[in-house]
Amino acid sequence: MDVVGNETSHYRSLANDSLTLVEEKKVGWSHGQNSWSEYGKPRSRILNGGRLLTTYTLAEMGELEHDADTTYQTMSDTGDDYRSLDVTMLESLRESTRSELDCQVCYALMLDPLTTSCGHTFCRKCLVRVLDHCNNCPICRRTLTVAPSLSLESSNKRLTEILIGLCPDLLAVRAEHASREDRSTVGELDTPLFICTLSYPAMPTFLHIFEARYRLMIRRAVESGSRKFGMLMYNRSGEPQGDLGTTQFMQYGTLLRIENIQTLPDGRSLIETIGISRFKVKAWSMLDGYTIGSISRIDDVSLAEEERLEAFEITAATPTSTDPIGQQLDRLSTRALLQIGISYVNRMRASSAPWLHERILTAYGAPPEDPALFPYWFASVLPIADEEKYRLLPTMSVRERLKITARWIRRFDQRW
Ligand SMILES: [Zn+2]
Ligand SMILES: [Zn+2]
Repeated sequence: MDVVGNETSHYRSLANDSLTLVEEKKVGWSHGQNSWSEYGKPRSRILNGGRLLTTYTLAEMGELEHDADTTYQTMSDTGDDYRSLDVTMLESLRESTRSELDCQVCYALMLDPLTTSCGHTFCRKCLVRVLDHCNNCPICRRTLTVAPSLSLESSNKRLTEILIGLCPDLLAVRAEHASREDRSTVGELDTPLFICTLSYPAMPTFLHIFEARYRLMIRRAVESGSRKFGMLMYNRSGEPQGDLGTTQFMQYGTLLRIENIQTLPDGRSLIETIGISRFKVKAWSMLDGYTIGSISRIDDVSLAEEERLEAFEITAATPTSTDPIGQQLDRLSTRALLQIGISYVNRMRASSAPWLHERILTAYGAPPEDPALFPYWFASVLPIADEEKYRLLPTMSVRERLKITARWIRRFDQRW
């Protein structure tokens, strides 16, 4: 509603010369005549803008009755110029509301949107997938008390109507992709995997794609409309990866979405991606030279569990950690652990540390205040080995991640 409100006030300032006479007639069922008929006096107003803008204005003034019929008549000298105003306004409304209509699990247009008790909305299928392995909301981590199949939950009707009204074309494409995904012959092995580097959620990764197999992989990801692939780090030490055994890649990775792609004349491309969520590879195979896999999403524990963990560690008689630094960190509140990171960054910026150069801050942004994201940002800019940074990927609590980053800092400080 905020986006629509902003857009509307912008058009209102442009519509000074376009006046429309709006007549609002109340229509109701008349028992006497046994038909729908008008009753009461029609209310008329002369307002700025075309039909779309004047209707919104009326509703905003609290005058538009739910069952009213409205007629519009242009009052401008040039005739029906309000039509073009409607078309331009609808087009820019479609554009500005577009990102609000994305599901925060699949990052595509919401398909059959369902709103949770905490007020967050996801595709029905996406929520079913999330509930398959945990019962927390993927955005706010509040516990959701719904049956995992969601079969009794009704869809968000208002949002469904908005989607159909604003972007029927995009919705049709989205539904087509979803049904193709269901029929997919590779079955579970449905995620293309790029074995290359370490990436984190909410952080950008810039890639230069030159190998033919990865060019194919990226082209398919773009053409299918999903624009997503999993990023995995090389397993340089040859360490066994859980049930997978010794693989060429580390088993935890980050799902990336392609934000920008620039194709060079010789077929190479430069892509800019953003991390969506972490995952663990459950099974893998090869397809046309690149790896594909079946993945399961890694989420943090619920907020309640996070608080329980914090209270337990702070007050425990015997600390969980065995080394002095660890024992000291166990006693600190999660907030204090975040503060260690933030003050370290401030100290390093004050002493002009090269790894906090303006160029790096432009690429990765300012340090996030969200304790869940701060460690990802910190690890993205910190010049230490990827094998060490990798330890953030399997973590399942914010506290655990902040303890890892605070330990790095304590170690640096000791070396100083
Ligand atoms: Zn979704
Ligand atoms: Zn939520």
